[in-house]
Amino acid sequence: MKNKKYNKNKVVNNVIIYTRVSTTEQATKGYSLNSQEEACKTYAINNNLNIVKLFKECGESAKTIQRTKLKELISFCAKNKKNIDAILVWKLDRLTRCMSDFYTLNNMFNEFGIEILSATENNDNSATGKLTRNMLGAFAQFENDQKSERVEAGMIQAFNEGKWLWKPPYGYKMFDGEMVIDNQTAPIVKKIYELYATGLYKQTDICRMLARENINISSAKIHYILNQILYTGYMFKPEWNSELVKCSAPAIINKDLYYKTQSILNNKNNQVTSYVRNNPQFPLRRFIVCPFCGSPLTASNSKSKNKKKYAYYHCYNKKCNNQIRIPKNKLENMFIEQLQNIIPNKTICDNLKEKIIENYKIMMKESIEKEKRLKTELKKIEDKKNKILDLYIDGKLNENDYNYKSEEYNKQIINIKSELASYNDNNNVEDCIEFVFESLNKLDEIWLNSDIDTKQKLQQLIFPEGLIYEENGFRTTQNDSVFTKKGAFIAPDLKMVPPSEFESLSTP
Ligand SMILES: [Zn+2]
Repeated sequence: MKNKKYNKNKVVNNVIIYTRVSTTEQATKGYSLNSQEEACKTYAINNNLNIVKLFKECGESAKTIQRTKLKELISFCAKNKKNIDAILVWKLDRLTRCMSDFYTLNNMFNEFGIEILSATENNDNSATGKLTRNMLGAFAQFENDQKSERVEAGMIQAFNEGKWLWKPPYGYKMFDGEMVIDNQTAPIVKKIYELYATGLYKQTDICRMLARENINISSAKIHYILNQILYTGYMFKPEWNSELVKCSAPAIINKDLYYKTQSILNNKNNQVTSYVRNNPQFPLRRFIVCPFCGSPLTASNSKSKNKKKYAYYHCYNKKCNNQIRIPKNKLENMFIEQLQNIIPNKTICDNLKEKIIENYKIMMKESIEKEKRLKTELKKIEDKKNKILDLYIDGKLNENDYNYKSEEYNKQIINIKSELASYNDNNNVEDCIEFVFESLNKLDEIWLNSDIDTKQKLQQLIFPEGLIYEENGFRTTQNDSVFTKKGAFIAPDLKMVPPSEFESLSTP
């Protein structure tokens, strides 16, 4: 009910009178339609209201709004709403005794721009008026709550049945009402995880690496993707279910990869810091050295007379007497040939393998103990979580405290679980090491198939001192490296290049 004061400037307000009496009321309380009508008419005269029409309801119950005259009244109001200002009743309960019906009616008349007036109750301040208004408010609230409870219950059920209820995240799409893998974007999600799990790249690095492949994805989005357990085919919403729920959509990555990612995310100090970046078009820039002045070569593009693009590496030292220019393709092919002639130094590699395995065993001993400790701790927190649930059920803990605590425990549980997951891939370390060392025999392929960052890291690893350009092959200043020339006599202390040959190169 609105409590608007009637417009004093308006000479006459048009009203409709509605009277009702039920059979029992007539018999027991002596209410009559006439006395209701009288009271309404008096009110109308005193308040300068013009009575447009009168609807009399006789012998029907107050409980339902499916009453004959009331229906007529409503359709009359719908048709003539512009000319009607209010409905006047003897008491508000004449319209209906049922709160929900009153609410519906009141809303409907409000939409017509028609008010409900009571002839015997003060329309602003009477007890009934107040109660009605309060009840209306409470009722509206209750109905909304009930509706959202129903909606949430439905959502929880659907969620527990494995349905993802929100917009499909990047990597998925909707198809025929089902969430399915999007073959366009899912490989990108996988790539993001694989890159991040190496621990070598920051999220912003990955953003740039993808941009080079014309995949535009913000680092905020990458962050979001890296935090989505959904990509493992499981969903988690602690308010609805403390366990992981299997999702109806298939996984894009496996759980190990996800948890490895989480442990890196949780421990940002482990990340390798970024280093000076380079143009992916020129992986050898600042790595190959000018044979005349010893400066590292830079690289550029220029256009030839026939407007063909021409890329080359060159010395940019102004004091250099021979500012060489080497076409990009020529220099890079030379470098690949160089890589083809390099294999891991067997003696060093064998030593290295042995050391790695040795360290691994020591590490394992620690990690087995750590794993045990984590499991104990996990059990402890899960017990605590169960305990507060018991307290909550027994009414010894209020809902807010329970939610707060259980969320805290959930967080701890996830952290421990993700840390535990990194202990799962400790098997077959010897095979893994063997595989890694084996693949080092194909350095040229590794280099060719790598992105710019890996290329540069690899170059640094194989030739820590860089390479000096020569017409018929590179000169290298290195020795005692993990890598050696194919067929070279293996002796750790053998200098592959006599020192005298490049001493002169150390100063420009
Ligand atoms: Zn030079």
